[in-house]
Amino acid sequence: MMDDMIAFCGITCSKCPTFVATQNDDNAERKDVAEKWSKQFKSDIKPEDINCDGCLATTDRIFMHCKVCNIRKCGTEKKVKNCAYCEDYACDKLSKFHERATPAVKQTLDEIKKSL
Ligand code: SF4
Ligand code: SF4
Repeated sequence: MMDDMIAFCGITCSKCPTFVATQNDDNAERKDVAEKWSKQFKSDIKPEDINCDGCLATTDRIFMHCKVCNIRKCGTEKKVKNCAYCEDYACDKLSKFHERATPAVKQTLDEIKKSL
C-alpha cells in the first residue's frame, strides 16, 4: 500500500500491532500486544509500553526496542529513506536482522531496491 510507513529495516510499521493500538488508543489491544510481545521477546512489556508512532515518527513516542535499534540509528545518520536506499544495502547488521525476521520484512526492502 502506498501509504504504509516502512521502517529502515523493512518492517511495515503501519501494520505493526503496537502502532495500530496506539493510533486507535485501544487499551484492550495494548494489553493483548503486551502479553504477546512479553513472551515473544522474553521480556516484561507492560500495556503502557505499547505506544508508538512508527520508526520514522518525528514524535518521541517510539516503542522502547525500536528507539534503541542500531539499524534505525544508522539509517537516521545516513539520512536514507530506508535501508533499501543505502549504498551499503544490505550490510551485515541488516542481514543479521533479516535472518531472524519474517521473510516479508526483507522482501519489502528488496522490492523497493528493485524499483529504484
Ligand atoms: S517502530 Fe513502532 S510501529 Fe515500527 S515496528 Fe517498532 S514498534 Fe512497531
Ligand atoms: S549501513 Fe546497513 S543499517 Fe545502515 S542504513 Fe545502510 S543498510 Fe541500513
